[in-house]
Amino acid sequence: MSLRRTALVTGGGSGIGRAIALRLGADGFATAVLDLDAEAAERVAVEARDKGYEARAFGGVDVSDRGQVDAAVREVHDSLGPVLVLVNNAGLTGFKKFLHITDEIWDRMLAVNLSGPFYCAQAVVPDMVEAGWGRIVNISSSSAQSGQQFMTHYVASKAGLVGLTKALALELGPQGITVNTIPPGFVDTPMLRASEEHGLLGGTVDHHAELTPVRRPGRPEDIAAACAFLVSEEAGYVTGQVIGVNGGRNT
Ligand code: NAP
Repeated sequence: MSLRRTALVTGGGSGIGRAIALRLGADGFATAVLDLDAEAAERVAVEARDKGYEARAFGGVDVSDRGQVDAAVREVHDSLGPVLVLVNNAGLTGFKKFLHITDEIWDRMLAVNLSGPFYCAQAVVPDMVEAGWGRIVNISSSSAQSGQQFMTHYVASKAGLVGLTKALALELGPQGITVNTIPPGFVDTPMLRASEEHGLLGGTVDHHAELTPVRRPGRPEDIAAACAFLVSEEAGYVTGQVIGVNGGRNT
């Protein structure tokens, strides 16, 4: 990579987002670790700096709040430079029988998982257009490919993110900006373990790993590796794509 580029990773304080932030740091990006959980964001930024990477935490930012997103992106821009890579990773999960999904639950899911990426992309695309180069990676979910019972609101939000990816890729392609989505499946993170603990997985993580073609759960680093490729220079001809990373659980 010839010039220094800044990457913004939402939900960078935990799980998949943490792995992506550390990987992009290792690959030479100045990394903005944005998270609702300020302490978690700070921990990851410190971890990255301890490894010699350039990183800053932007904590206490809710991606579903456009004002907070715009203010945080301005701060990133001023401290780390124009944002040329955006990874929309922050997300909520949820399990509810369809008739138990209230308007509030539905609205919050859509606000975080779909409006959040919309606000973040609108905030950074002007930097990318000016540079004539940009990369957006949206972390959706394999459940948007397969469907998932008791997760209608979650799956609808992630399927919306797949649609956003495809449409935006067509619009931004002429300006040197690629937009892709990685739908992870069954990745061992605090989110997955919390679902296991609450008995919401229909079995343990180990049980599901045995049913997975590669016979293990995903690691956050598996998603980070795919993301690193998609934001690289050499991925310039890959856009509008759904790049599944799921151990063969969905094909
Ligand atoms: P995780 O460990 O729970 O990490 C998600 C991070 O995002 C947390 O630090 C969380 O902060 C933050 N966050 C949540 N809501 C936010 C908001 N409104 N604004 C800013 N930050 C927010 O989850 P993960 O498993 O790494 O998941 C990362 C992404 O992958 C999510 O979009 C998820 O839907 C997707 N995904 C994961 C799997 C899997 O198997 N793990 C499968 C399919 C898709 P708090 O802790 O404060 O909430």
